[in-house]
Amino acid sequence: MKILLVEDNLMNQKVVMFNLKKLDCEITAVSNGREAIEIFKSNKYDIVLMDIMLPEKNGYEITLEIREFEKINEVKDPVTIIALTANTYENDKEKCLSVGMNDYLSKPFSAQQLINTIEKYS
Ligand SMILES: [Mg+2]
Repeated sequence: MKILLVEDNLMNQKVVMFNLKKLDCEITAVSNGREAIEIFKSNKYDIVLMDIMLPEKNGYEITLEIREFEKINEVKDPVTIIALTANTYENDKEKCLSVGMNDYLSKPFSAQQLINTIEKYS
């Protein structure tokens, strides 16, 4: 399983990568939307773990670009995008789903919650 982690906080990147060590997966971490979109376009991922608060483009905007890219390229099996958000507003989940994300995890989440969510889609 190939995972793209989009997260600007290096400590959070390390925690997620550590927490996923037991899964049989290859994780690529990037810290902004430009890198995320560039690497997404030239690789095939099973899961994208998407932070929301990022420099320049936010996670919602990046998701919209990914979905647009998939649509233009008639991708048959769209990637699963799971939001990792620190926001606690009630409409966050709806907003994540409305831009085309599949699921949502609120920070702080446990290693097990993260694994359970990924396993739902693998
Ligand atoms: Mg962030």
